[in-house]
Amino acid sequence: MVDLHIHTSFSPDSCLDAEMACRVAQARELKIVGFADHAEFVPEDDAYIVGCYDGQGILKEVERLRELFNGKIEILFGVEAGFIPGMEKEIARFLGSLPFDYSIGSVHYVEGQLVSSWTKQQELRGASFMPYYQDLLEAARSGLFQVLGHLDYVRKYLLVPEKYNHQEYEGIIGKILEACAEKGTAIEINTSGWRHATEEPYPGKEVFSRFKKLGGKVTVGSDAHKTLEIAYANRRARKLLESVGFKEVEVYRNGKGCSLPL
Ligand SMILES: [Zn+2]
Ligand SMILES: [Zn+2]
Repeated sequence: MVDLHIHTSFSPDSCLDAEMACRVAQARELKIVGFADHAEFVPEDDAYIVGCYDGQGILKEVERLRELFNGKIEILFGVEAGFIPGMEKEIARFLGSLPFDYSIGSVHYVEGQLVSSWTKQQELRGASFMPYYQDLLEAARSGLFQVLGHLDYVRKYLLVPEKYNHQEYEGIIGKILEACAEKGTAIEINTSGWRHATEEPYPGKEVFSRFKKLGGKVTVGSDAHKTLEIAYANRRARKLLESVGFKEVEVYRNGKGCSLPL
């Protein structure tokens, strides 16, 4: 069992102690954990605070924990990098500046605003969420990341989730899937959706079914910010992937992918 999307106290929105995370992961029978703390690149950032990413700090902690848990659990050094169109060079420079095993590319800001508040505003105005998907398409086409994070998580912030018009975004999601398949970028099944009102992972079964037909690769991540969330719905996620034909999930060491049986 693998969980590649865990935020430790090195993320500004998490208090999860990395050593405790390893202990909990071990108790939940994970064989591999991936820490993917937040790094953002928005100039007028008000939540993740540009510059607060302490790469050397977490790297040191990962090295310490690798020794402590040697032979018991494998610890991967990942990052969840916020994608902003036009910042590709800065992001590439950042990703090359630390020995990451992998990076998850996610869109957390749209039109300079955090997705959480942006989504609610769009919904209240009856406006489309297309700008979010357009940014995500650019992230997929950039080829910067090993993994594309929580594909349709605008749904997380909807006031009335049942009114979300899936059909409107089928076309652009198809383009995102094609770009990922072409670049060899995996799409994660982000199980946090099962903790939210959407009651479905980000993305859901339908999207994975389409991605499988394109020959895509997948990873599993809980997006844990608390001990309770580590490996959340991991078995359920693997069952969903299996039901649409996947037999393997990806892990990454020094940027190189390796497929493990589900
Ligand atoms: Zn995220
Ligand atoms: Zn995350």
